[in-house]
Amino acid sequence: MKTRSDLRRTLARKPDSLAEERQRELVEFRRKKYYRGVEEFTNGFFQAVYAPLLDLFMATVRVRFDFIDSETQDPFDLHDPHPQVHKTMRYWTSQEKEDWRKQFHEVVEKAWSVHWLECHKPGWESLVARVAVDVEEIGDGPTMPTDGIFDVKVYRGDIAGQGSPAVGHRQAWFGYDNVQSKPGERPVVVHEFGHMLGLDDEYRAAGKPEWASHSDMVQAEFGYGVPRLDSGNREDRFKNSIMNSGVTGKVLPEHGVVFLDAIRRITGIPEWKLRRGVPN
Ligand SMILES: [Zn+2]
Repeated sequence: MKTRSDLRRTLARKPDSLAEERQRELVEFRRKKYYRGVEEFTNGFFQAVYAPLLDLFMATVRVRFDFIDSETQDPFDLHDPHPQVHKTMRYWTSQEKEDWRKQFHEVVEKAWSVHWLECHKPGWESLVARVAVDVEEIGDGPTMPTDGIFDVKVYRGDIAGQGSPAVGHRQAWFGYDNVQSKPGERPVVVHEFGHMLGLDDEYRAAGKPEWASHSDMVQAEFGYGVPRLDSGNREDRFKNSIMNSGVTGKVLPEHGVVFLDAIRRITGIPEWKLRRGVPN
């Protein structure tokens, strides 16, 4: 509550002392780090940390990899008049597990660490944040946390269930090839990781809503939403999006909305914006 003496002080204040006070607040703000535990930001699931002194916003996705041996179906013998389904068991070697892990970190962190955030609060425009995405592996064991983690099953042969890579509620299913890519394409895990960060598919699919779940956030920031259209035929700017066309698309500036939402919430400052044109 404001008292009469507060009011007198406010009225007596010179204009430049207001600016000075704002500056003091900013200096104070910069001293601290801003974070919460792992939580759901929009539909994603990561720990958000903002370190003003480092101009760094870090989104850490915690995963526990479970490498599973599984069968693959052999190609049919075209010369055999009565072809039979043959399956061969595939086993992970420790070297393959190590390589898969390493590639997952590399491709995902590189592809998604592209956005910049900037503060538009009057007088606080010097606050900026480079977005860095980090995958943190949590091992097994009694002292390891069990909460706040994506359980990621990685199959050496066929993927169990639907047979294709997928991300669900704090779970994911990948295959051996999903960290690899053809020239000019991106590995499948780059798209799937978008789901882990909270982004939706942008292509039309039977039984799915007409708009991507991140559409409202994109609408609020960019002035247009994200309709789910036939992925091959669309001509809007999501034609070349990683969430539309999977391996041939790229991470767009619009996808930074998940980080924008997070930094606003951990700092309590609503005036954060995505730097325009990043990524190019
Ligand atoms: Zn998808």
